[in-house]
Amino acid sequence: MALTGMQIYKSLPKTNCKDCGLPTCMAFAMQVAAKQRALTDCPHISEEGKEALSDASAPPIRLVKIGGNGKTFEIGQETVMFRHEEKFHRPTGVAVRVPASLSDADAGALIERANKSTFTRVGKELRIALCAVEVETSDPAARAKLAADKSEVPLILVGGKADALKAAVEAIKDLKPLIYKADASNVEALAELAAAAKVPLAVGGKDLEELADLTGKAKDKGAEDLVLSFTANGGQTIRDLTVARRAALRKQFRPLGYPSLVEVQASSPDLEGILGGVFAAKYAGIVLINGVEPWELLPIMVTVQDVYTDPQVPNTVEAKLYEIGSPNENSPVMFTTNFSLTYFSVAGEVERSKVPAYISVVDTEGLGVLNAYAGDKISAEKVVKTVTEQKVSDKVKHRKFIIPGLLPIFRAEIEDTSEWEEVIIGPESAREIPAFLQKWPNL
Ligand code: SF4
Repeated sequence: MALTGMQIYKSLPKTNCKDCGLPTCMAFAMQVAAKQRALTDCPHISEEGKEALSDASAPPIRLVKIGGNGKTFEIGQETVMFRHEEKFHRPTGVAVRVPASLSDADAGALIERANKSTFTRVGKELRIALCAVEVETSDPAARAKLAADKSEVPLILVGGKADALKAAVEAIKDLKPLIYKADASNVEALAELAAAAKVPLAVGGKDLEELADLTGKAKDKGAEDLVLSFTANGGQTIRDLTVARRAALRKQFRPLGYPSLVEVQASSPDLEGILGGVFAAKYAGIVLINGVEPWELLPIMVTVQDVYTDPQVPNTVEAKLYEIGSPNENSPVMFTTNFSLTYFSVAGEVERSKVPAYISVVDTEGLGVLNAYAGDKISAEKVVKTVTEQKVSDKVKHRKFIIPGLLPIFRAEIEDTSEWEEVIIGPESAREIPAFLQKWPNL
């Protein structure tokens, strides 16, 4: 029977420390009761408290951890159908397949390439989350060990034969790989293997009905950490992912209450990239693809980054003085807001200009320049206060200050009320910054 907020509250620490992101333990208890939060979101709950509540308060979609020894990846414990209802919690991971047909040398080289596939976007590093190694080679254990040695991310062991998977799992059991995948033909054997090794198991069925039946069988054999597996089949897969999520969240239907993995099988790398992004946006916890080309990976990762951004929390950077390049006492000084996208656009264009500069970032609660102005989050007075607190004038010997072209109205007030004698109106758009800065110091 579902627990009430008060029953849950009784087992919480009642310190109102706010580490769960909510103002009080009572507010947290009410959200757990409403299945909008998981008990594990409170980092301070005691083991006894967890035990007392765990079954009744178990999240509708189980949290599954893949990996060990410092290389881990988590999926599941999602609480909403739509991001605007709260947020999506655990970003989709991109897994890259390492085919069994590759020699050891080529498999190693592919894994190293995957390791190096990193991108920086809006100040965050984007990278592959998992390495999916096909183990049905002449020596499954050796292939698993090779992947474990080379890969910087957790592993998925791919195969259908229980003996090959058993050898591979036993070779790297401490790394808690995900076994991929069980179906109607092997679910008992693979579930026993997963339960014995305490590793997660992916389960696939020909339709949702069979899938629910197979997760029940796997659970009966002791496998707890399950992942629903789908093979990308356009619209039908999106429907299945949506129905499974709805059944878990809205009906508390436990047999489908697990995170999901979508294996993308497309006729071309272009299509694979597109489908990877589509399934990342619509409920896949993992998308398994074949390609490692940057042009294929980046669109999927950008989709994940955007979909999994908390819509209630603007992306911000710290409001402080940033140095781009190696500026000196003659370098230009400008300001912008602490909205990540704005800051990184400005910083990126300053970098591109090859003119080292100082950027003073003003706290606008995560709003861009015009929105901040319209919302009364920025004023000439606030800019002057910020640059004074950041001691910007100590860094340069000139007194020229560049302001965004969208806020020319600040010019007179900054000149009148600060030590910045010459306020220069900069470009309206970040992309015009390089040409603008080339003229420094003769602006
Ligand atoms: S983190 Fe735990 S102890 Fe702290 S306020 Fe939230 S529920 Fe209470």
